[in-house]
Amino acid sequence: MRTPLVAGNWKMNKTVREALELVGGLNTQLAGIEGVDVVICPPFTALADVGRALAGSALELGAQDLHWESRGAYTGEISAPMLWDLGCTYVIVGHSERRRGPGESDEDVQRKVAASLANELIPILCVGESLEEREAGRTERIVQTQARVGTLNVEPDQAASLVVAYEPVWAIGTGQPATGAEANRIAGLLRQWLHEWFGDRAGQIRILYGGSVTPETFGEFAGQPEIDGALVGGASLDAAAFAAIVQAFAGRVG
Ligand code: PEP
Repeated sequence: MRTPLVAGNWKMNKTVREALELVGGLNTQLAGIEGVDVVICPPFTALADVGRALAGSALELGAQDLHWESRGAYTGEISAPMLWDLGCTYVIVGHSERRRGPGESDEDVQRKVAASLANELIPILCVGESLEEREAGRTERIVQTQARVGTLNVEPDQAASLVVAYEPVWAIGTGQPATGAEANRIAGLLRQWLHEWFGDRAGQIRILYGGSVTPETFGEFAGQPEIDGALVGGASLDAAAFAAIVQAFAGRVG
């Protein structure tokens, strides 16, 4: 049985004051929510304050990235032990905005996934093809490669903690999500590959969909058997919108 998971990626939004306002709204809207895990991923600068504001609630704290080394001369970077110290339990790894902007490679992502798991952080490993790759018929190959290289250093007994988010790049922030059927198809393929790599433990790995999930579009995904939740960007900046998406997945244990 997999508990659904909805994660909000705030990206580079919200000062500390704004972040605390949003968390106040989320704590109210999601008080007493059951049957779904909820993770809030504010920017690094708001992690400490948001973590304190979440104390006592069921909402969990996540970061948007990490470095694979624990410490050292890596100016501007943040390590897994630092995130753990702030109360993070999750971390987004390999988001397409980091693969394409700072140019993270599949091997960087692999190191970050391993560092997360070694430090008791659950990695939300993002995979997904660009429009160009989809149009060239390379979707399956790209998603499979990103997932395989990203999880290559995961020990079999760590695999159940993994979260994989299928996020087609062309759907992120565009207002044009994948169809539920297509997202479900790719999630099903991911499950099949994870099974080949990790055996029965793959049955416990949660697979999310991300890309323009909003209160208007979540119905496409919340009903799909292979999709265990959502990674939400833009709509996670609005407490009512995010709460509506969370509620759609609550109670859908499958
Ligand atoms: C994301 O950034 O992971 C994302 C899915 O963004 P959006 O929901 O805005 O498309």
